[in-house]
Amino acid sequence: MNKIILQPSSNKDAREHYVDTIENPVSLDSIKSFLDSKTLSILKDIYSDGNCYIWGVTPGGNNVTKWNRIQKGDVTLFSKSGKIYASAVTTFKIHNKNLASSLWDFNSKGQTWEYVYFLDEVREHSIPYVQFNNAVGYKENYIIQGFGVLSEEKSKLVFDEFGLESSTYITPIEDSEYLDIALSIPETEQEFTSKRRLEQGHLRKKLFGNKTNSICSCCSKEYPISMLWCSHIKKRSKCNDDEKRDYNVVLPMCRFGCDELFEKGYIGVNDSGVIIKIKPTTNVNVNNYISSLVGENCKGFSAKNKKYFKWHREFHA
Ligand SMILES: [Zn+2]
Repeated sequence: MNKIILQPSSNKDAREHYVDTIENPVSLDSIKSFLDSKTLSILKDIYSDGNCYIWGVTPGGNNVTKWNRIQKGDVTLFSKSGKIYASAVTTFKIHNKNLASSLWDFNSKGQTWEYVYFLDEVREHSIPYVQFNNAVGYKENYIIQGFGVLSEEKSKLVFDEFGLESSTYITPIEDSEYLDIALSIPETEQEFTSKRRLEQGHLRKKLFGNKTNSICSCCSKEYPISMLWCSHIKKRSKCNDDEKRDYNVVLPMCRFGCDELFEKGYIGVNDSGVIIKIKPTTNVNVNNYISSLVGENCKGFSAKNKKYFKWHREFHA
């Protein structure tokens, strides 16, 4: 479950940092000397254009404890002058004093903002405090003071009210938690939605690692991963528990059409990994889309998922 990070930024340092490393993205090239090769490679996967957004907090007060609670997918709200003026999604975090002092120097106490976190999906807002306070259940005249991380319960109220959840960055869950979700049957619509989100977050981590762009298995086009769905080749509801545990049962397909056509059984994949037509349609546009795929190789086809494609063909035949 993702959380909301509160980041008032009315003082001079914070205002400057916002301009220096959020409004103006930082090139990975310019900071690579402060990063080890593993970190740099993760950041290159996340920021495929080579530019990133960075924030950080000093070790003062309880900041470190709060920073420790930050996870990928948590959303920071930047606020000043009575309103929330921007939000951004956490992609990665790192404790790095040299990086921080190079980006932002030191404050008057000789501290730097070394508890660093990287951001993406920066969006402008104009949300008055009173609206935020109403959503969280704070008193109307409450003023956001100091860096803070809201509880999951309060965060959910904010996500629901302002629609801030990222569809790219989702808190990673452990394999065991994934299995609990995959094997359970959700009872309510809301539970279903939140479980699907966690499940997709986990599957994306398995299929894409840290990459934020990837390829559709059917049309082979590259898309942001938020536009790709980790589709079950064999319907989830028809999988036995072992099949639900098997990551070979899923493949990325784009939401522009391939996922839908495959899910509905208009297209399938034969034993050689070639896309074939299954169900007929009289709609000329759907037919044109199908024709553009038929005969192409399915990118993720392998000996490990062959049996699931066979199931899919026979189910829809
Ligand atoms: Zn596609």
